[in-house]
Amino acid sequence: MLLPMPFPGPFDYAAPAEMALQPGDIVTVPLGHRRQTGVVWDATSSLPPEFAPPPQRTVDAAKLRPVAERLELPPLTAELRRFVDWVAAYTLSAPGMVLAMTLRLHMRGVPTPSTGWLAAFPQPDGLRLTPARQKVLTLLADGTARTTTDLATTAGVGPGVVKGLADAGALTPVPLGPERAFAAPDPFHNLPVLEGAQAEATDALRQTVAEGRFSVTLLEGVTGSGKTEIYLEAIAACLEQGKQALVLLPEIALSAQWMERFTRRFGTQPAIWHSEVGQRARRLTWHGTADGSATVVVGARSALFLPFKNLGLIIVDEEHEALFKQEEGVIYSARDMAVVRARLAGFPIVLVSATPSLESLANVEAGRYRHLVLPSRHGGAALPETRILDMRDHPPPRGLFLSPALTEELTATFERKEQAMLFLNRRGYAPLTLCRACGHRMECPHCTAWLVEHRNRKILSCHFCDHTEPMPEACPSCGAEQSLTPIGPGIERITEEARHLFPDARILVMASDTLGGPAATAEAVGKISRREVDLVIGTQIVAKGWHFPHLTLVGIVDADLGLGGGDLRAGERTIQLLHQVAGRAGRASTPGRVLLQSYTPEHPVMQALLSGDFDAFMTQEAEQRRPGFWPPYGRLAALIVSADTAVAADDAAAALGRVAPYGDGIQVLGPAPAPMAILRGRHRRRLLLRTRKSIAVQPILRRWLGLVKLERQVRVDVDIDPVSFL
Ligand code: ADP
Ligand code: ZN
Repeated sequence: MLLPMPFPGPFDYAAPAEMALQPGDIVTVPLGHRRQTGVVWDATSSLPPEFAPPPQRTVDAAKLRPVAERLELPPLTAELRRFVDWVAAYTLSAPGMVLAMTLRLHMRGVPTPSTGWLAAFPQPDGLRLTPARQKVLTLLADGTARTTTDLATTAGVGPGVVKGLADAGALTPVPLGPERAFAAPDPFHNLPVLEGAQAEATDALRQTVAEGRFSVTLLEGVTGSGKTEIYLEAIAACLEQGKQALVLLPEIALSAQWMERFTRRFGTQPAIWHSEVGQRARRLTWHGTADGSATVVVGARSALFLPFKNLGLIIVDEEHEALFKQEEGVIYSARDMAVVRARLAGFPIVLVSATPSLESLANVEAGRYRHLVLPSRHGGAALPETRILDMRDHPPPRGLFLSPALTEELTATFERKEQAMLFLNRRGYAPLTLCRACGHRMECPHCTAWLVEHRNRKILSCHFCDHTEPMPEACPSCGAEQSLTPIGPGIERITEEARHLFPDARILVMASDTLGGPAATAEAVGKISRREVDLVIGTQIVAKGWHFPHLTLVGIVDADLGLGGGDLRAGERTIQLLHQVAGRAGRASTPGRVLLQSYTPEHPVMQALLSGDFDAFMTQEAEQRRPGFWPPYGRLAALIVSADTAVAADDAAAALGRVAPYGDGIQVLGPAPAPMAILRGRHRRRLLLRTRKSIAVQPILRRWLGLVKLERQVRVDVDIDPVSFL
């Protein structure tokens, strides 16, 4: 019996004969004085021996407590059980914690029919719009009906607000129930016209799906080449086979345009899985995947753990995205584990990107992944022309951040009635606030981080924890008044500068903290598409796969941002992000231009963005990582030691360091203070295990961690294949 709790393995219970329990059955069992849900678990023989957890001790059969009840739920399939075992063994997590990710929402059974709300159309005259009411209506702008509870929780308002809106006639009731949850997407609804490279890639994918065996395909194509168009055909092929398909997107909350395209192709929406659709919708999706009625699910990384009845295809869009890595709880890469799930169950998976990760490219090179390439943009749209503005030659006016060369281009773009975008991957007004009198820097009291000024809200805020404080009038260190100075730009500050330069331009700011969720994002995107905006200023949200036909100029305010620091993938990341941003320009008939503001124009990343030769850059990147056995040519695992005090963290890290594994092809770096040496008040130290590719890190880590007895307040997080080194 596996319980969704942090125990090292399954527990034994007596199985009453009349229940006729089978592996995968979902049951309740007594645990202490409580009842607990669990799943009948079977042997884990499918694991490679080096991953297998230590053997369980057996218990005297006479002492076993019996299973309490068998729940009326579809059993977890053998495929899913093996997947849970595999993920647990690979990530060194308790199997129960992985099981918890798949069980989380079934607990209260299939939701009973109830009433949901949609925004009434038209809205009643003279409706009083409080901020709370506005939040509810904004949520509903995506056209998904939600219950009162879901609306109130997601919008962060009381249920009375929803009731008030309903009484005022601003909401329309609709019946909600499982029976109307999932209309079946129709693979023949609206077939695209595909020619040339698109047709070839589609045929290849359709064939792969029809064969229905495990394989990994990397679908690579420049932005706007029609990758989405093509993988929708792979989904169609999967539906024709009567199987379910799963699409993983890095940020499902931002997917309004994607949903629209899906609906155009298949005549109905897929099931959506992310935190903002509400508990009830997620429970419906959970049951819909288990009984097979949800045939296509689009979701964030956790959708990978849904109990599909008959999954036949996974698509991982933007496979290079770091967001596929879950950094808390069970630390796993949804992209990599998606490949595992496909392999264990024997179906194809497609990884999609304009700028694939070096990991995936190395797998192509090694012959493990198949490579489909779309070389050009659909409909002959040209790739944008890229220019680097050497900021040493084109400095901005004192205290400002936009070079005159860029502002001239902006002016010309607005004169042509075209749209422009400014990109800076930094929220807020300024990343650092400094006292001009004493040099004091405003820092987070709980983290090794500067506080970021958010001028609109008159606060300083930490971007790593919840800490915020009002912007002080005087320096808290020396008491000097009017001496606190913002250093460097965030997008609020760029917006201020742009407003000053272009008082007549209609400016829209897009950042995760200014857009209140998917509905607000959809609204912003709609405004841009309808040409109600001249200038978009945004953080990485604007880089996502949006299609803005009237956008012709992209200005990258600080192309060097992200290249600093010791991150192994800093160059790769920067090029992926900037290429993605640049890809927003000139997607229709008018050609686009991209201007990169940089103080290091000779850097290989800038040169690759200039030439557009992503392949050459990645080859060079590979040559740098290969000799030192850095990923993907070797393996990494990080241990993050954290404790309430610096002394305890140091002691534990040192103890681990003293018994660190060694041997041919095995190396341990550290212990060293983490770059975020204090995070949310916890002191952190890091150790990094690096091995040759042929050596599995899991057994080494198991042995290593078993050698040290840690104090209770000390925690060690294991991060296999780390992507964040903070
Ligand atoms: P990518 O995912 O590679 O960025 P998309 O699939 O988003 O590319 O395609 C870019 C644009 O071109 C979209 O608006 C899409 O609808 C359009 N498009 C691509 N291929 C076709 C096609 N064969 N027929 C019609 N429109 C297409
Ligand atoms: Zn903080």
